[in-house]
Amino acid sequence: MRALRRFTVRAHLPQRLAGLGPLAVNLRWSWHTPTQDLFASIDPGLWRRVEQDPVRMLGEVPPARLDALAADEQFLARLDAESADLDDYLARPRWYQHEQNEGVRLPSGIAYFSMEFGVSEVLPNYSGGLGILAGDHLKAASDLGLPLIGVGLLYRSGYFRQSLTADGWQSEHYPNYDPQGLPLRLLTEADGTPALIQVAMPGHRTLTARVWIAQVGRVPLLLLDSDIAENDEELRGVTDRLYGGDQDHRIKQEILAGVGGVRAVRAYTRIAGLPDPEVFHMNEGHAGFLGAERIRELVTGAGLDFDEALAAVRAGTVFTTHTPVPAGIDRFPADLVRHYFSGPNGENESALLPGLGVDRILALGRESDSRVFNMAHLGLRLGQRCNGVSKLHGRVSREMFVELWPGFDAREVPIGSVTNGVHAHTWAAREWLEFANRLAGPDRVEEAKGWELLQTVEPRELWATRNTLRAQLVEEIRRRLRRSWLQRGATEAELGWVDGVFDPHVLTVGFARRVPTYKRLTLMLRDPERLRALLLDEERPVQLVVAGKSHPADDGGKALIQQVVRFADAADVRHRIVFLPDYDMSMARYLYWGCDVWLNNPLRPLEACGTSGMKSALNGGLNLSIRDGWWDEMYDGENGWAIPTADGVMDEHRRDDLEASALYELLERSVLPRFYDRDGSGVPTRWIEMVRHTLQNLGPKVLASRMVRDYTVQYYAPAAAAAREAVAHGFAGARQLAHYRRRVEAAWPAVRVAQVDSAGLPDIPEIGSKLALTAHVYLGGLRADDVVVQAVVGRVGPDDTLSDVVTVPMRHTGTDPLGEVFEVEVALPMAGSVGYTVRALPHHELLASDAELGKVVLA
Ligand SMILES: *Cc1c(COP(=O)(O)O)cnc(C)c1O
Repeated sequence: MRALRRFTVRAHLPQRLAGLGPLAVNLRWSWHTPTQDLFASIDPGLWRRVEQDPVRMLGEVPPARLDALAADEQFLARLDAESADLDDYLARPRWYQHEQNEGVRLPSGIAYFSMEFGVSEVLPNYSGGLGILAGDHLKAASDLGLPLIGVGLLYRSGYFRQSLTADGWQSEHYPNYDPQGLPLRLLTEADGTPALIQVAMPGHRTLTARVWIAQVGRVPLLLLDSDIAENDEELRGVTDRLYGGDQDHRIKQEILAGVGGVRAVRAYTRIAGLPDPEVFHMNEGHAGFLGAERIRELVTGAGLDFDEALAAVRAGTVFTTHTPVPAGIDRFPADLVRHYFSGPNGENESALLPGLGVDRILALGRESDSRVFNMAHLGLRLGQRCNGVSKLHGRVSREMFVELWPGFDAREVPIGSVTNGVHAHTWAAREWLEFANRLAGPDRVEEAKGWELLQTVEPRELWATRNTLRAQLVEEIRRRLRRSWLQRGATEAELGWVDGVFDPHVLTVGFARRVPTYKRLTLMLRDPERLRALLLDEERPVQLVVAGKSHPADDGGKALIQQVVRFADAADVRHRIVFLPDYDMSMARYLYWGCDVWLNNPLRPLEACGTSGMKSALNGGLNLSIRDGWWDEMYDGENGWAIPTADGVMDEHRRDDLEASALYELLERSVLPRFYDRDGSGVPTRWIEMVRHTLQNLGPKVLASRMVRDYTVQYYAPAAAAAREAVAHGFAGARQLAHYRRRVEAAWPAVRVAQVDSAGLPDIPEIGSKLALTAHVYLGGLRADDVVVQAVVGRVGPDDTLSDVVTVPMRHTGTDPLGEVFEVEVALPMAGSVGYTVRALPHHELLASDAELGKVVLA
């Protein structure tokens, strides 16, 4: 008999053990090893069986054991110490508070929206890198004391769980997670009833959601859940799965996450008595409708018009793009958006967001083809500050979105970058954390110091740690491989060989990630015989562990997985190469700890950042990677290897051949010899030099705490300052900026640089010679201080295009019949063919950059 529905009943803890409750529910335990050890000590066998999940643990531990613990002085002392430590963690002023005490003005609150959050495997609410990054962002924000609130959806089935059929095809299953069994509490009103969020749907329907709170250290994560009795069957299913379903399903999810998400934040801050967040951060464009909801709030609540509200909302919005693959951008048919936002009979007045016109909402996400609504464009138009997630990705994004800033060079597009980071306490093995703590002292605010000091650890100790971690991984691989074969239909009796799979002394290479085409899962199989020879080499073998999920709708990806599985199933190599199904955080951890080499071979430049290699680096893993994403900026010649890219070779087969061959070559010539070259006591000295260099040099750079500080200083603080200016004195700033923007829109078609005169150059100019420029600019009714007029000087190519330019603002010196006069003297910055031009751009003190409005007039 199958149960119709299931729910979880939490155990009643004896009074003296009450402290276990908060320790289990606050996800801080997931990066705090002493708390994990405390739970393990309750019942080590059970701890393994419940897969290290404290909430499940407390549900399953026998009452008699709890009673015994309640009388166990030693256990109670540990419990009290860990409870006190958690209280201290939650209350003590941290980096953010110290900055504020120094007088730095930081936001009173930040709302961080993401479609997925990977905080821990016990809350399976993520599919891959984007979600894990969001989880790491919350954890680092907690460690640093940011007043941040996470916002997303709670998916009843999470992403999917992956297993393999006998012939190596991916199969997916969708467990039903019961929220009562997860580390969550409901957001409730003062009277104890659940706070409900409502969003209007077409046909006079209402989508209602309750709000679960996952406590991530100091940071609350609000997760909206539509699976409640108030909804009909269809609407209950809105939060069924992450990235499942069609466009119609997906837009409902994104409306709930964006519009419902803002309403959830309002409910949470009202109930908790917290200030409204000044900054809203969109982690990717999925929750972009949050901006439309905030515009509605200001239109209906503060009496602003759409443009004024937009100016205020933009000021406090940060948008992070993660997708350098145009096909990967989230887009909807404009008609679908219209369907969800317009009035019941298709009126322009929105029913979902009363007070707003649908045409204005549609314009925010418009592409050049107006039938398409683009969530990235929406993000870029709603965020006054935008960024990519590595230096290279920032560059690629500026090129990719240059059409939104017509007339500008890509380098001027106002999209910056903050390179992703990873949360060390989540991803580094406890062995390394203990070293780092011992060396730097337990003050985690200066976390980076610990990694730098790892250079002082003896090579022999570093090597011993690497060996321990590799051996642990080998055990884990055998355990998972056995489970997989049993699922694939094998019997225990046939699986004796699994005990001989992998060797704890052999160089171990890892490759684990989602399986979109650009990540090229099967590049390593390009020349199967060459790979086989590497695996089976008698003196210097390599072993390879592979994992990754393919999107359920992507049969191409599943075929790639099958190719790897079939290769790895062969009896002659199966002890040296494995494909492990169901890649998730619980597996990833062992891979990052134990792999000697972390392999990544994406098609450059399609990997926005990549973070798995960073996690490996924090464990002394050496990266062997195409120079893409983070590796492009952090590879230094000694912290790993760069696989030469054939970037620019158009024939993709040839490109794959070239890059695969370079990969084999690096392994044969450099990686393997270094690993197997040992000194008298068996230590691979040159290898360990690279390990040490990696820990010391990459450690501090790849930390999520570095990333969150970068966001705070470069994005959140300026956004909060802009938002305050916009809001102050009855929204004077927002009104002024909106008014200015309207004047610019009206006047701009008439603006022109009427005439440019030069003087002052000697007959034979040299570097540094002074060029005097005078420009007459007709401003079509704008004032001289409404614009900035710039001289642009640079190298000039055969087709007269300028490059390596220097821009110098020109001074307004008067008015004459040709227009406003601007002048400047420029020292020639370079030799060779040099050219110049003059241009005019809108300028206003409340704009973050002169390029922001995407308007420019060239002479
Ligand atoms: C880090 C991580 C990812 C992301 O890895 P990439 O290098 O960005 O592809 C995906 N899944 C899991 C489980 C991770 O831990």
